[in-house]
Amino acid sequence: MNIAVSSTIDRVPAALRGWLAKPRPMLINGKWVMAKSGKTFDVHDPATEMKLASVAEGDAADIDEAVRAARRALEEGPWSRLSPAARGRMIHRIGDLILANLDELAQLESLDNGKPFSVARVADVPLSADMFHYMSGWCTKIEGKHIPLSALAAGGQYLSFTRPEPIGVVGQIIPWNFPLLMAAWKLAPALATGCTVVLKVAEETPLSALRLGEILMEAGLPDGVVNIVTGFGETAGAALAAHPDVDKVAFTGSTEVGRLIVQAASRDLKKVSLELGGKSPNIILGDADVDAAIAGATAGIFFNHGQCCNAGSRLFVQEKIFDKVTAGIAANAARIKIGVGMDPETEMGPLVSEVQHGRVKGILKSGLEEGARALTGGSAIGNRGYFVQPTVLVDTKPNMKVVREEIFGPVLVATPFKDADDKLIAAANDTIYGLAAGVWTKDIAKANQIANRLKAGTVWINCYHVFDSALPFGGYKQSGWGREMGQAVLSNYLETKAITTNIS
Ligand code: ADP
Repeated sequence: MNIAVSSTIDRVPAALRGWLAKPRPMLINGKWVMAKSGKTFDVHDPATEMKLASVAEGDAADIDEAVRAARRALEEGPWSRLSPAARGRMIHRIGDLILANLDELAQLESLDNGKPFSVARVADVPLSADMFHYMSGWCTKIEGKHIPLSALAAGGQYLSFTRPEPIGVVGQIIPWNFPLLMAAWKLAPALATGCTVVLKVAEETPLSALRLGEILMEAGLPDGVVNIVTGFGETAGAALAAHPDVDKVAFTGSTEVGRLIVQAASRDLKKVSLELGGKSPNIILGDADVDAAIAGATAGIFFNHGQCCNAGSRLFVQEKIFDKVTAGIAANAARIKIGVGMDPETEMGPLVSEVQHGRVKGILKSGLEEGARALTGGSAIGNRGYFVQPTVLVDTKPNMKVVREEIFGPVLVATPFKDADDKLIAAANDTIYGLAAGVWTKDIAKANQIANRLKAGTVWINCYHVFDSALPFGGYKQSGWGREMGQAVLSNYLETKAITTNIS
């Protein structure tokens, strides 16, 4: 099968092509600057492998300047003097401006990441706007508590209360799978709590966050409150995670890099929150609505080309419907229209990079060599661009690499089970990860009993990939520390001060 990969960039308006044609600077202290070293690096369209743009290659020196700007903005600037309501209005305006630039942001996301424009337009960009809108409401609702004292007969002699305060200067490091949305998940709560930020975006996909930087300035954010640095993980990212004047590091990415972040942050005992990998079980019981389960499991693994930390990548299906369900998912997979993201017909684009393409092909090969059988897919496709066939593997064994490792590509491993018993729960939990899970059955009591026993931060019953700015999201086990989104994320960015006054 061949894929037409010509002329993606010709499909976007001239103004955006002009924006891409200029080397893209970084946002530091409210100014657009190139790297101190003068270096730039190229970003590529993963569908055509052609250069899309060149961006500043920030390193430790630029991170240092950005951290200083964030510190000044926190300690001296107008930001901390804004009333909570005024801060909320500014954050809300960011959401409005994201929606006002919906098409352009979706085009950038599609070109840079490879995902379909049509998907970015209905998912990535509106969800990013919603995150700012949702978080803007929290600004006026971050409250402390009065605490009654009992020790040493203190009651009545002291007035004690807690005062939540911004944690300070936050270093945020994000991945490439949802470039704009991950920036929104990180920035919106940090701003809502009154922190200042240095954001290091993924080197594969820096463009939409740079465009977001322009939006932040347009919304009136004071200089230095958000600084956006482009550069590589080992240089810019590592310098941010280890910077002595950063109070907290918030990271989303691989579990492997999460460990490096913790090591780098440990010297100064910085606070750390992590949203890491997954290998999520999706369980279909024999009494499920089979059509709905097939559709849900298909989307559960193939949405965003499987490049989701919460992808439902390990499917467990009760024996009596195993063949029907796996055949249904395989038929859906074979029908997915693969192509360049800017083609309106495209349902699945390329993987993000040559590195990911190599990784996914390698792990697929190992699975097939170890005896797994592909009901559909099983290899890369096309002779240009990082395309991989949506793949459904059966006849797998629990110790195979395809079953144990996060693939971060469109590869499902399916296993039959006899009864919904302890063995099933043990198999579903047999992973180092604990991010998400799915359960499909008409028996809602049983679904909830299973949900309670799954070691995962999110469980979807008769649905999958349902995200909302109000819903906390994060991992058990090696899937991370802390939660993104919802009220829960606020604690990532707040310190609690207890203040006691002698009133005797
Ligand atoms: P993936 O494996 O999904 O590409 P990574 O975890 O490698 O994701 O990358 C996520 C983010 O972490 C990116 O912004 C990347 O630049 C950054 N990163 C990679 N290595 C390091 C490191 N050693 N220290 C800090 N950040 C890093």
